Amino acid sequence: MSIFSRFLLCLLLISANAFSQKEKSSFQIVPLGIKGGIDEKNLSAYLLAPANTKDFICLDAGTVNAGIEKAIENKVFKVSTSEVLRKYIKGYLVSHAHLDHVSGLIINSPADSSKTVYATDKCMEMMENHYFNDQTWANFGDKGVGFPLKKYHFQTLNLGEETPISNTKMTVKAFPLSHVNPFESTAFLVKSEDSYALYLGDTGPDSVEKSDKLKALWTAVAPLVQSKKLKGIFIEVSFPNEQPDKFLFGHLTPNHLMTELHILEDLAGKGSLNNFKIIITHLKPPAKNITKIKEQLKSQNDLGLKIIYPEQGKKFEL
Ligand SMILES: [Zn+2]
Ligand SMILES: [Zn+2]
Repeated sequence: MSIFSRFLLCLLLISANAFSQKEKSSFQIVPLGIKGGIDEKNLSAYLLAPANTKDFICLDAGTVNAGIEKAIENKVFKVSTSEVLRKYIKGYLVSHAHLDHVSGLIINSPADSSKTVYATDKCMEMMENHYFNDQTWANFGDKGVGFPLKKYHFQTLNLGEETPISNTKMTVKAFPLSHVNPFESTAFLVKSEDSYALYLGDTGPDSVEKSDKLKALWTAVAPLVQSKKLKGIFIEVSFPNEQPDKFLFGHLTPNHLMTELHILEDLAGKGSLNNFKIIITHLKPPAKNITKIKEQLKSQNDLGLKIIYPEQGKKFEL
């Protein structure tokens, strides 16, 4: 065989191999907002849908309108802002009631269509009592104080219970997180067919929170990591390692993230997180801190994680 034909054969084998390893994606994600503070046009909100559908759920809703506009600018959506808001977003999953996770939902509610808002009972109670209460804002919900306008169905999620997400083929299971103990945030395990995506709202590390909530979550999802059914984890890193534990305010640093993910790896098996997709959310400005966080995560990535930094209005797949 000539050197040239050997070369061709080699190329062919490499590309065949690459092709067989490329799996079909299960989810599409369009981030509407990605930061953990200050920039009100770019706060935590992630649209998630089964691949090849327009049945999106919005995971947290810090920024909605500005994110949809950005996605339209990027040609991710070819319809109007109003159509994305009213028709593509089938519901909201709210991890906790902090304003950087709900302000987009509140402000856009007059223009929105009828749909379901999902949250745990504590979070829902806060939204009913402090936001949709006919005083700070009209009550667009179907329960709570004042005069309910019944645009939104406020559905309480029971922890650990698989709940269908209306008008989609997805289901969700909620897990509690500790976000300055005893204040709770939520993790959502979303299922589409036989695939899963895990989204964590704000959380501190178990060691600082004096909690076992992350440990319990890792224990619950470890079998899905093992079976490769879990396609990715959205998790926050708010501060660089220089932030002292006593000033974490219920957030993670690169050090704490890696410690937590090592616990997950211990549960799922050595090497189980190699090439596993970790989507880093809630990076807090200033920009120099964000740069530092990225450098630290890169240098501490001994698990072989595939670290993804989402960008506002840019679609990606899992
Ligand atoms: Zn937050
Ligand atoms: Zn928070």
